[in-house]
Amino acid sequence: MLKCRDIPSEAEKLLAGELPFGERVSVRMHLFICHNCRRYVRQLKVLLGALNQFDNSENHRKVSQSEAEAIVQRATDNVGPPQQPLN
Ligand SMILES: [Zn+2]
Repeated sequence: MLKCRDIPSEAEKLLAGELPFGERVSVRMHLFICHNCRRYVRQLKVLLGALNQFDNSENHRKVSQSEAEAIVQRATDNVGPPQQPLN
C-alpha cells in the first residue's frame, strides 16, 4: 500500500500516463481512501493542464520586462507586513 509521501512522484507519472497498470491501481486505491492526496492530484492536474495550455497557445510570446515587473509588483504588494500603520 502506498503512503502519502509516495504520491507526489507517482502522481506526476500517473498524469503523464507513464504508470504501469499495477502501480496505477495502487495510486487509485490510495486516492480512494485519502482525501488529502486526492486534492493534491486534482490540483496538480489543473496546474499541468494550465501549463500545457499556455505552452500550446498560439498567442504564446515572451512576457516583456515591464509586464514581468508589473506582475512581480502586484504579487509582492500583497505579502509581508504593511509598510504603513493601518490607522
Ligand atoms: Zn495520502
